[in-house]
Amino acid sequence: MSDVRTTCPYCGVGCGLVVSGGVPKGDAAHPANYGRLCSKGAALKDTLSLSDRLLAPSIEGREASWNEALDLVAARFADTIREHGPNSVAFYVSGQFLTEDYYVANKLMKGFIGSGNIDTNSRLCMASSVAGHIRAFGEDVVPGCYEDLEETDLVVLVGSNMAWCHPVLYQRLIAAREKRGTKIIVVDPRRTATCEAADLHLAIAAGSDVALFNGLLAHLADHALDEPWVAQHVTGFAETLSSARAEALSLNITAAATGVPPTDLLRFYEIFARTERAMTLYSQGVNQSASGTDKVNAIINCHLATGRIGRPGMGPFSLTGQPNAMGGREVGGLANQLAAHMAFAPKDVARVARFWNAPGTASQPGRKAVDMFDAVARGEIKAIWIAATNPAVSMPRANHVRAALKACPFVAVSDTWPTDTSALAHVVLPAAGWAEKDGTVTNSERRISRQRAFRVAPGAARPDWWMFTEVARRMGWSDAFSYQTPADIFREHAALSAFENDGKRIFDIGALSDIDDQTYDALPPLRWPLPKSRSAEAGPRLFARGGFPTPDGRARMVPVSGSGAPRISALRLNTGRLRDQWHTMTRTGRVPHLMTHAAAPLLAMHPRDADARSIAPNTLARVENEYGAAVLRVVVTEDQKPGDVFVPMHWTDQFSSASAIGKLVSDRTDPVSGQPDLKASAVEVSAVETHWAGLLIRRDGAVPALGENAYWSKAPLASGFAFELAGWAALSGVIHSEDILRQLLRIPRGAEITSYSDPKKSTFRYAGFAGDRLEACLFLAPDDAALPSRAAVQAFLGQAMTPMERLSLLAALSPVNSARSQKIICSCFSVDADSIRDAIHNGKLASIAEIGAALKAGTNCGSCIPELKKLLQEQGADALETVK
Ligand code: SF4
Repeated sequence: MSDVRTTCPYCGVGCGLVVSGGVPKGDAAHPANYGRLCSKGAALKDTLSLSDRLLAPSIEGREASWNEALDLVAARFADTIREHGPNSVAFYVSGQFLTEDYYVANKLMKGFIGSGNIDTNSRLCMASSVAGHIRAFGEDVVPGCYEDLEETDLVVLVGSNMAWCHPVLYQRLIAAREKRGTKIIVVDPRRTATCEAADLHLAIAAGSDVALFNGLLAHLADHALDEPWVAQHVTGFAETLSSARAEALSLNITAAATGVPPTDLLRFYEIFARTERAMTLYSQGVNQSASGTDKVNAIINCHLATGRIGRPGMGPFSLTGQPNAMGGREVGGLANQLAAHMAFAPKDVARVARFWNAPGTASQPGRKAVDMFDAVARGEIKAIWIAATNPAVSMPRANHVRAALKACPFVAVSDTWPTDTSALAHVVLPAAGWAEKDGTVTNSERRISRQRAFRVAPGAARPDWWMFTEVARRMGWSDAFSYQTPADIFREHAALSAFENDGKRIFDIGALSDIDDQTYDALPPLRWPLPKSRSAEAGPRLFARGGFPTPDGRARMVPVSGSGAPRISALRLNTGRLRDQWHTMTRTGRVPHLMTHAAAPLLAMHPRDADARSIAPNTLARVENEYGAAVLRVVVTEDQKPGDVFVPMHWTDQFSSASAIGKLVSDRTDPVSGQPDLKASAVEVSAVETHWAGLLIRRDGAVPALGENAYWSKAPLASGFAFELAGWAALSGVIHSEDILRQLLRIPRGAEITSYSDPKKSTFRYAGFAGDRLEACLFLAPDDAALPSRAAVQAFLGQAMTPMERLSLLAALSPVNSARSQKIICSCFSVDADSIRDAIHNGKLASIAEIGAALKAGTNCGSCIPELKKLLQEQGADALETVK
């Protein structure tokens, strides 16, 4: 097969790939990444395994044909609608969908079923940006583009750990800064990897962003106001400024509200005021908040007041989380949007109904994600189809969502791999995966890129658009769903964007509505708008000369108040991403080297909070609130603010006994956008007193059945799995029979077990064999420090071993005190933190380049460079202390 150009399926940067011989590499010609990939993108080739893939439809756990499964889905939806009306059914879909998947699902629900009840996991990601854009601009439009990063003099990053979450774009910024001296200011309660490059880090009190930007607006009004521009292109300036001034009465008052020292605040305000080319990039720290929409408008207000929008190197810029969050917004994947950036205004409803020839088109918005699952719990939604997402893990109050789905009369799930959600489905439909799907995605800068299949879908797996099309046909709408290919769908989507548009909606890709299949196949990455009236892109930026899609053509400044930051008396739980993981680990959790940067779920907390609870670093702690509990290993770090704790969002019940943190997240949502506040749940944390610790390494990845008094977490190895174990009841009560031991080792009766024990030290070691090959080994000790390292054991897995070698494996492996703390910094070349520290110290290394030359760390994807920088700084500080 010749080379295939496609797009990375992870984040909203939308990096281009060239797949050659089945191996994806960075596409040097793609304007998002120019060949670069981050650690996740660089590891895509390792996610292509078909092991555990869903390969056939199933009904109640038994394999079924497509006909049988699709007939059942269509019949259950049709019956439910007939009996209880269109609002008794729902679709919950995903930013992992291609635009074509989204278009068909949205058309089916809103146009033909006649309900607004389709929402997407982008609700958890970008809904506040959408709402903020619509309030300010009249339409959900990102005004700027990636080139702005190369043309700006100031980047303010708000609530964005860009170094880990949008790494390739971050590297573009850092490269530009080296040439241009761009200033970087990070606004984030946590000291993240992104702060390593910051000229100034404002560690604001969580939720105080509006107060910070109201203070900035008041300062800008006195020092950098663009009066002519405001007079010509903005409404609401006077009210917004007066509201901001009423709050930001003085620097000290804003300092008290934000927790930022007045000198740092003033420095920020002065730099922003004097820097014409200023960008504000924001992400989930802004969006995932009960005041997310107000935060977005507080930022946009500052750009509108200074006219710094739509010109090179300036403007507000939302970094989208998912690969096709933008595409979903374009087709109406959100319950409160209709299609092609139209809302539920009667004129829009009538227009879309005309275009689709669907007189029953929904006239009201549907239920947003949190509300949707509440309606399932109340029995108001009786049939739901969940596609390409895992709400049993990722939704707030995930236990509540699980209970709702368990009680729901009909649940269909389409996905590529089994998930915690598919385990609750009546019908499971095998979806084609990223490597097998054809369509388009739109990245954070409005650029549409083709995603192209480079292999055939395994088994009976099929694309999502095909499944929704087939169900629509079975429900009686064959004519409206006659698509044969993704190109058919894309043309219709493009035509709808231009339908009765006349320049009223900026999202117009009418120029692509007549393209033939070959042109669609060869479509290069293109940024919208692309109206039919123009033969080429209109230019990368919007709104430099106004022209907002509002009735009067002006942007609106929106008065917002910062007093809404929630006060929490307990600890505040913030959830977010790690560098090498993606969402609920369905793909990245299968790649051994991506699981070395953080091998187990963690809880980061400030030393003061840890001390107050007698929690030592690297021990287990229980996090709990009224919604649920989790057990996590503690990282004590001054990167956290006192009172705030951080837990990664990624771990599921398939990877750890009790670490799916969505179970503890509150259901508080932003009143405008409906986006859940995933970063401010009240929790308490307490130490877990463990009685024993264990290391289990085996070829089988099944979860260990250890009961409620034990903890486990799983990480893949090259030829098996490693499990960290610990328990808070006596070991004898947990592993009390040979049967239990065999279940743990996953070896059958009769298979040989070699054991070694030292009861005085409470140390027990077991190895299970299939013939003479090592299938599993289990090391048990009073604590972690008495366990061998997993690296020392894993090499033997699957190896034939003589009796002498077996004994020496069990008896001779020495404990390593750092069994739990070996942290891989460069996952491309498996270079750990201690090796880098040693090299810096012994080799007197003083730069990233010197570390790269000595250890190769940081020389491939570059995602670890901020951490290398931090290690260099740490070592430099040590040296300074020694000299003193
Ligand atoms: Fe993929 Fe990384 Fe690019 Fe995001 S930055 S699209 S995860 S390669």
